[in-house]
Amino acid sequence: MPHNTKYVFVTGGVTSSLGKGIISASLAKLLQSRGYSVTIQKLDPYINVDPGTLNPYEHGECYVTEDGAETDLDLGHYERFLNVHTTQANNVTTGRIYQSVINKERRGEYLGKTVQVIPHITDEIKRRIKLVGTRNKFDVVITEIGGTVGDIESLPYVEAVRQLKYELGPTNSAFVHLTLVPYLAASGELKTKPTQHSVKVMLENGIQPDVLVLRTEHELNVDIRKKVALFCNVNLESVIESIDASTIYHVPLLMLKERLDIIILKKLNLPIGNEPDLKPWKQFLGKLKDPKSVVKIGLVGKYVELPDAYISIMESLIHAGATNQCRVETVSIHSETINRENVAKILGEMNGIIVAPGFGRRGVEGKIEAVKYARESNTPFLGICLGMQCAVIEFARNVLNFPDANSTEMVRSTKHPVIDLMEDQKGITTKGGTMRLGAYPCEIEKGTRAFEAYNKTTIQERHRHRYEFNNEYLEEFKMNGMIASGLNPETDLVEIIEIPSHPWFIGVQFHPEYKSTVVNPHPLFVDFVKAVKKNTT
Ligand code: GLN
Repeated sequence: MPHNTKYVFVTGGVTSSLGKGIISASLAKLLQSRGYSVTIQKLDPYINVDPGTLNPYEHGECYVTEDGAETDLDLGHYERFLNVHTTQANNVTTGRIYQSVINKERRGEYLGKTVQVIPHITDEIKRRIKLVGTRNKFDVVITEIGGTVGDIESLPYVEAVRQLKYELGPTNSAFVHLTLVPYLAASGELKTKPTQHSVKVMLENGIQPDVLVLRTEHELNVDIRKKVALFCNVNLESVIESIDASTIYHVPLLMLKERLDIIILKKLNLPIGNEPDLKPWKQFLGKLKDPKSVVKIGLVGKYVELPDAYISIMESLIHAGATNQCRVETVSIHSETINRENVAKILGEMNGIIVAPGFGRRGVEGKIEAVKYARESNTPFLGICLGMQCAVIEFARNVLNFPDANSTEMVRSTKHPVIDLMEDQKGITTKGGTMRLGAYPCEIEKGTRAFEAYNKTTIQERHRHRYEFNNEYLEEFKMNGMIASGLNPETDLVEIIEIPSHPWFIGVQFHPEYKSTVVNPHPLFVDFVKAVKKNTT
C-alpha cells in the first residue's frame, strides 16, 4: 500500500439496531483522544444511491454533510463524537457501487469482460474503502458495514473486506464483530449461542473476528466471556462487554474500561501512547448527568413515531441542555393531531417549541397552528427549514392578512406564494441529489437576536431544500415585524427570519442540527434553550 493507513472493519450479527454506529464512533473517539487521526465510513447495503430519496420512516433522518452529501444518520453520530467533518466518501451504498460499475461498463472500460459481483463489484467496494484512507491520510479508518452478516445484501461487502485483509497485510486491519447476548428472564440466563452462530457465519465467509463486542442488558461474568472466547477463537481480553448505557455519550467511557482501544491498537501494531485525553468529553458528561433544572420542548413534526427521524435535533438539544445545565425533555408532537381548537392544550405546558423540517402537505396545517400559538403566547420558537417556512406562512396569513398565503410546495396556485420554488430548481425533474444541499454562507445582521446567538456576522450552515422565502414580500414582512436577519451574501436568499418584538422567535432555512457536536454545541440551540429556560420562571 502507498500509505500506512490502518483499517478497522465493524460488522454486526444476530440482529440489527445493536448500535454499531455508536461502537464505531466510541472506538474512533478513544483513538482520537490518544492522538490518532481517525475517520469512520459507513457502507449501506441497500440499493438506493443515497438515503436522500428515502422516507424518514425507513432508516430515520437523512444526515447532510458539509459537502452536500445526503447520508445515513450514523454519520451524524460520527461528527457529534469526533467533531470532524465527514464527506460524501464516508457513506457508500450498494446503489452507488452498482451505479459506478454500470457506468464504467457502458463506457466500455471493462474491455469486453463479463462484469460480475466478484471481482468487479468487490473491487469497487475496496476502491471506495481505500479512497477514504488515501485522500485524507488518516491514521485509522473505521469502516462500518451496515446490516447483519448473513443478509444477502451484505455478502459482497463481507467478501470485499475479506479480500482487503490480505491485501493490507496482517497488522494493517482489525475486525470487530458486534453481537447480542440475550437474557432469558424465565431461566435467568445470558445466552451466548446466537453469538457463536454469528461468528460461524463470519467464518463461513472467511473472516475470523479479532474482537467481539457483546451487547447485553446485564453484566457478563468471566465464565460467559471465557465461553465466548473458547467457542469463537478469540482471546479472553478481546471479548468486550457493551452494556446498555443511560446515554450514548457514556459508551466511549465504557469501551475505555473494556480496553477496546488498546486491543485494537495492539492488533494494528500501533503505539498505545498516552492516556486518552477525554477532559472536555467528561466535562460534558458531568453537566449532562447533573442538570440543575428541567425544561420541556415540544418538537412538532410528522415523523414523530420514529424518534430517529429527528435524531440530530434531539442530540443538539441534549448538547445545548448540558451547556445550559438543564435537562431538556423533548416531547414529540404529531403535527397532524394539532388544530386551532386543541393547540393551546397540547402546547400549553411547553417551555419552548420547535417546528421540524419536512416535505409535502401532510401535517403542515398543524405546524402552522403551532407557530401561531408560539408567536401569540410569547413561547420561545425555533423553526427549522420547513419549520421556518411555516413561520413565514403563518405570519403572512395572520399578521399580513393574506388568509390564503402558502408555499407553492403545498398549493401551487396560491395567490400569495410567500414561499416559492428557488429559481435554479425550476427545470429540475429528477429527485435524487438535486436539492440545494450542503454548506452555504450566511451574513447575519448585527443587533439581531441571531447575531446575539452566534456572536458573529458570517456563518456557514448546511441546507437541504428546494423552496425559499419569496423576496417580493420581504419589505411587507419587515414593515409588520418579521425581519430577515440572515441572508446569503451572493444570492440574497433569506436564511434567517425573526420577530424582534417576541422574546425568542427564529426560523432558519438551514439545518443547524447537523453541526452541533459534544465539544461544540450549536450556538443557536444553546441560545434557544437559554431562552426556554428563562420561560420556566
Ligand atoms: N420541503 C421544504 C423545501 O423543500 C423544506 C425542506 C426541509 O425541511 N428540509 O424547501
